[in-house]
Amino acid sequence: MTQQVPLLINGEFVASESDQRQAVLNPATQSILAEVPYATSDEVDRAVSGAKAAFAEWRNVPVPERARLMLRYQHLLKAHQKEIAEILAEDNGKNFEDAMGDVWRGIEVVEHACNIPSLLMGETVENVANQVDTYSVTQPLGVTLGITPFNFPAMIPLWMYPLATACGNTMILKPSEQVPLATVRLLELFQEAGAPKGIVQMIHGGKDQVDQLMNHPDVLATSFVGSVPVAKHVYQTTTHQLKRAQCFAGAKNHMVVMPDADKDTVMNALVGATVGAAGQRCMAISVIVFVGDTIAWADELADRLRSIRPGIWNDPDAAFGPLISLAAKSRVESLIASGIEQGANCRVDGRNCKVDGYPDGNWVGPTLFTDVTTDMDIYKEEIFGPVVSCLNVASLDEALELVNNSPYGNGTSIFTSSGINARRYQHEVSVGQVGINIPIPVPLPFFSFTGWKGSFMGDLHAYGKQAVRFYTETKTVTSSWKSSPSQGPNMSIALK
Ligand code: NAD
Repeated sequence: MTQQVPLLINGEFVASESDQRQAVLNPATQSILAEVPYATSDEVDRAVSGAKAAFAEWRNVPVPERARLMLRYQHLLKAHQKEIAEILAEDNGKNFEDAMGDVWRGIEVVEHACNIPSLLMGETVENVANQVDTYSVTQPLGVTLGITPFNFPAMIPLWMYPLATACGNTMILKPSEQVPLATVRLLELFQEAGAPKGIVQMIHGGKDQVDQLMNHPDVLATSFVGSVPVAKHVYQTTTHQLKRAQCFAGAKNHMVVMPDADKDTVMNALVGATVGAAGQRCMAISVIVFVGDTIAWADELADRLRSIRPGIWNDPDAAFGPLISLAAKSRVESLIASGIEQGANCRVDGRNCKVDGYPDGNWVGPTLFTDVTTDMDIYKEEIFGPVVSCLNVASLDEALELVNNSPYGNGTSIFTSSGINARRYQHEVSVGQVGINIPIPVPLPFFSFTGWKGSFMGDLHAYGKQAVRFYTETKTVTSSWKSSPSQGPNMSIALK
């Protein structure tokens, strides 16, 4: 019998009553791994009311106790890293090394959450007026919501509920319906680490479930990671109701190659950064801006891309896995076709890619275009496949103008041996995460994930350091320690 993905309601993994189900497929074979339910409206309501009830107690659990939960959880996740990586490699398709990295980047967030007592510290100023002090405290919000995409089935859920709960909130998690299996295991381990029942609830589904959750009056803040259209919908729906939202959205990341860069370093970086994880990374390099004569380097990159191929997750010779779905594959292939029709030069064409023994996989091979212009769809659209577009400009000025005109601002990088070029690029580029001789500059969680422009909607960033600001309110308290009102001037006089 097909495995049914459970909901997590009030600490129990339960079968949904819903009639609506979707198959969770292995994208390399189309075999059915499980069925995921689209939770009923009643199940969504029960999850929210359970999270609200759990909040009443959880918010009062001493902060060091919450930190100890995270310490135990970190330990368990490390012990189960390989097992979780194998689960997500099956339903996401990414290769084992990437899958291990996916879990590891999540573990680092849990490690950050272990510092929660320091992260929650407020501030104090004594004697703001005569015998009057002001201090600030941080307090949790209540029931929060996390909505996650398919491309990092462990890391992105782990961006959310560990910090949300360490801050004293409860959370409803709505993982991607395409890859729900790793989240189930992550939450089993959270309970095994000692998480009280109800502080994280898991609901499955799509738009209807997300809408019901966002619109629920008891859900006060939403963290979303996914595509631009859905991010806009989530941001507009939640902020329209004066609730907090932080929405991490799509991207089109440019890498600038200066003539003074080291060619081998550039080539080595580019192969993994462009087609690694089949290009299904919000920080993948999808545009290369070759400055001056470096455009000739595209020939060598084309050769290198021709020499690698996709494959199943446990094939050690495969450079990356399949696309997540047949729909994703046909979308990527039609964008490749549009590039050719619109006049780009397709130097490596990944369509009609075959992998021995896996005729039904969603395979697209490495694809490289040169002679790309900014009006082409392959330049404008987030392709989310192993497809890279090369442009040629004359100078760093032109490269900066190109990158700064992009509506996206998630990541960018420059390869150069000039300190002046590097310093100028990091100062003038309007992108939130900048790599200098680093292709994919994702910060560790003691910084924050800092997408700009169309890649991030909201005014506080979720992951890492600033997540604590998102998941808490700050309260300032002004307190008099006068033994009698006659002892000194009142505060309004003192502040004049
Ligand atoms: P998606 O937007 O299709 O889905 C994301 C989540 O939203 C899923 O849980 C899905 O069930 C839900 N959803 C889908 N349609 C919805 C709707 N109409 N209303 C409400 N909820 C809906 O994204 P995806 O394809 O799973 O993920 C890929 C996208 O995520 C890419 O655009 C990628 O760039 C982006 N991403 C961004 C970051 C970042 O940090 N900026 C990180 C990872 C992925």
